[in-house]
Amino acid sequence: MSRIAYVNGRYVPHGDAAVHIEDRGYQFADGVYEVFAVNGARLIGEQGHLDRLAHSLSELRIDWPLGRRALMVVVREVMRRNHVRDGLIYLQITRGAARRDHGFPDQAESALVVTARKSGPLNKQALFSGVDVITIPDIRWERCDIKSVSLLPNVLGKQQARDAGAYEAWQVDKQGFVTEGTSTNAWIVNADGELVTRNISTSILNGITRLAVLEAAQAADVNIVLRPFTEEEATTAREAFITSSTSHVTAVTRINGTSIGNGHAGELTSRILDLYLSYVDQHGGPKVTESWK
Ligand code: PLP
Repeated sequence: MSRIAYVNGRYVPHGDAAVHIEDRGYQFADGVYEVFAVNGARLIGEQGHLDRLAHSLSELRIDWPLGRRALMVVVREVMRRNHVRDGLIYLQITRGAARRDHGFPDQAESALVVTARKSGPLNKQALFSGVDVITIPDIRWERCDIKSVSLLPNVLGKQQARDAGAYEAWQVDKQGFVTEGTSTNAWIVNADGELVTRNISTSILNGITRLAVLEAAQAADVNIVLRPFTEEEATTAREAFITSSTSHVTAVTRINGTSIGNGHAGELTSRILDLYLSYVDQHGGPKVTESWK
């Protein structure tokens, strides 16, 4: 079965899907995106993704190519045509195609692409067995709350992690505090058993998975502290994990080569994964809506 993509009003075979060479996403990274997880034929965190998309678009003054409802019809149609039970939906909106000029074009219409990718069903064992993380300097711009397609520092950071045999790189700001991973949010459990993750600001992307984990953990009376944590706190943490729509809640078992806890998913991490899964099962995602920066 061939994959189908949606490009500016048309459903086309993935291999034939193309955008204009003067699309501003291509020339200036002038666009935004969202990645929806699909678990068991269910789209996760729909409302949160749309609210965050609204934030990204309005901060960059890019028009919606379609209304929210019509957009979700397209998303579901791409899901259906690609028979996605488990996997992800990628949605990208750019300022559109126009003669190359840095300033906004007078007349470009925003461009929309939606694609799908299947995966196997969620594998709890793989999430438990954990991944390695390295730390790198955070060299990104000051608006990481916007889910922009301008991802070069994240691309370089992820490759640095791969070159080091790790799965993810946690970015560290100039003050020595971890901001987040290149495509995930960062969490630790400290010696007091507190669950610590960075508070929302323009320094991180407010993950939809992060929000669902927070709501699930709050409902279960887990002791949560929203504040930046240092690189040293991370390497000496009792437990650590990452969250994202594609990695869900994945244990971190080594940071910069140092084992975290006993080298397996910690007790609270395992509990958080279960809490998150049942929360999403019950509510379909975070109830939101909190602020995005
Ligand atoms: N932080 C960054 C930089 C990301 O790119 C992502 C996801 O792509 C996340 C965090 C996690 O966000 P979400 O849980 O919405 O997938």
